[in-house]
Amino acid sequence: MRRKLVAGNWKMNGTGADLKEIDALGIAWAAPRVEIVVCPPATLVSRVAFTLGGQPIRVGGQDCHAEQSGAHTGDVAAEMLAEAGATHVILGHSERRADHGETDAIVHAKVEAAHRAKLTAIVCVGESLEQREGGTTLDVVAGQLAASLPDGATAQNTVVAYEPIWAIGTGKVPSTEQIAEVHGAIRDKLRERFGEEADGIRLLYGGSVKADNAEAIFATADVDGALVGGASLKSTDFSPIVSALE
Ligand code: PEP
Repeated sequence: MRRKLVAGNWKMNGTGADLKEIDALGIAWAAPRVEIVVCPPATLVSRVAFTLGGQPIRVGGQDCHAEQSGAHTGDVAAEMLAEAGATHVILGHSERRADHGETDAIVHAKVEAAHRAKLTAIVCVGESLEQREGGTTLDVVAGQLAASLPDGATAQNTVVAYEPIWAIGTGKVPSTEQIAEVHGAIRDKLRERFGEEADGIRLLYGGSVKADNAEAIFATADVDGALVGGASLKSTDFSPIVSALE
């Protein structure tokens, strides 16, 4: 049985003043059935972890470098995130792929780094609007999946997030049939490669998830939760999404 998961991606948003949102989440979700992960900017990882104290909500990074240390100005190692209190890290987000030229090979190395540091990697895949309209979505996603995931991926150390690029931050959401088609194809590819282990790997949907569409998305086959961007910044927006999954 796969435990449901909702992860919030704060992107490049959040300062110390926003720790009040973490306080509010901690009060609202003292004993959640689902797994909740908040991924603030790297500057806030340790403060969010400290604010949550012993509470069950987890903290994640939004990226890590493949190396453990070295001459990589501005980068953060997976081990550093883990030391700061993170248990998860988002990798291969389309904004990282676009802004920083991250290829599947780079993402693959980063996922291995996350595993080395005992972090759960939330690995993002998803097609552009052009690819969707060109009918290549399943091929694109299968290619990203094959090249981004290392052989050591397990149900414990890896989560896959399907995030169509055209749905991120746009208010546009694929139909539940479209989501089910891609999630089903991802599950099939994972089974081909990882056998029975694949049945435990959680598949999140991401892209304009909000309180008013969460229930329908969560009722879709092979959706084990969501990766939420904009609606994760305020606990009053995020909590109803968690409620829809509980
Ligand atoms: C994201 O950034 O991963 C995301 C899904 O963003 P949004 O929910 O704002 O579309």
